[in-house]
Amino acid sequence: MSRKPIFAANWKMHKGPSETEDFVKSFLSKTQGKTFHAEIVIAPPFASLARLAELLHTASAGQNAHAIQIAAQNCSEYDAGAYTGEVSVLMLREFYVHYVILGHSERRSIFGETDKTINAKIHKAREANLKPIFCIGETLAEREGGNLETVLRTQITEGLRDVSEKDLAETVIAYEPVWAIGTGVTATAEQAQDAHAFVRSVIAELYGAEPAAKIRIQYGGSVKPGNAAELMACPDIDGALIGGAALEPQSFLEIIANGSATE
Ligand code: PEP
Repeated sequence: MSRKPIFAANWKMHKGPSETEDFVKSFLSKTQGKTFHAEIVIAPPFASLARLAELLHTASAGQNAHAIQIAAQNCSEYDAGAYTGEVSVLMLREFYVHYVILGHSERRSIFGETDKTINAKIHKAREANLKPIFCIGETLAEREGGNLETVLRTQITEGLRDVSEKDLAETVIAYEPVWAIGTGVTATAEQAQDAHAFVRSVIAELYGAEPAAKIRIQYGGSVKPGNAAELMACPDIDGALIGGAALEPQSFLEIIANGSATE
């Protein structure tokens, strides 16, 4: 089964509109004339979505600009109303947003998001035809305590509760071991592959062999130009969700180039 890898830059709370413009101009000039067998996604903060949409999806944006998809880093589980600070899925659609990162470990640990909240957001995203990048992953204590599989199984089962096979087909899973996010410590290719194969097996139990074979599972956690090729060569790894190393156009580009085939 050939799955197109997907490389997504998660900028977290970095880059306002003017830094977004600097990044995109530089990134586009570096990718001029190159095409990769990969989908490229940028997830800026909400405040930079409008500028990013202008830079990538207006008539004046160049050919390679249109090839980059926009993701939001979060969305509300509600449609509209008295929810101060929240952003709805329909608002995101106005900024050409196609993907939304949900369940990131920072949302879970700092903002108290539960599997139930994440599940509600996945449903809300699909109602607006946004594609969830659904993040899961264990802490070091959970891994060392022998609970890796239990934790991943619970996150997958609860996060995808009542998600149809059709909506699963529009979902990307990001396996991100919490101990590897922003720490400089990367899972070995073997640790990552084992976890990805396990995630795919849980999807097979829940949805059957074909949806499991089709779903893309990104790896996230200190991916850099130097480790991208080895990680992406693993049979169950289909791209990366990248934080720190995607803040610089050159290193984001090198990760994509090293981790995918040039077309
Ligand atoms: C992330 O934020 O999802 C992430 C993987 O960050 P980093 O690449 O910095 O570890």
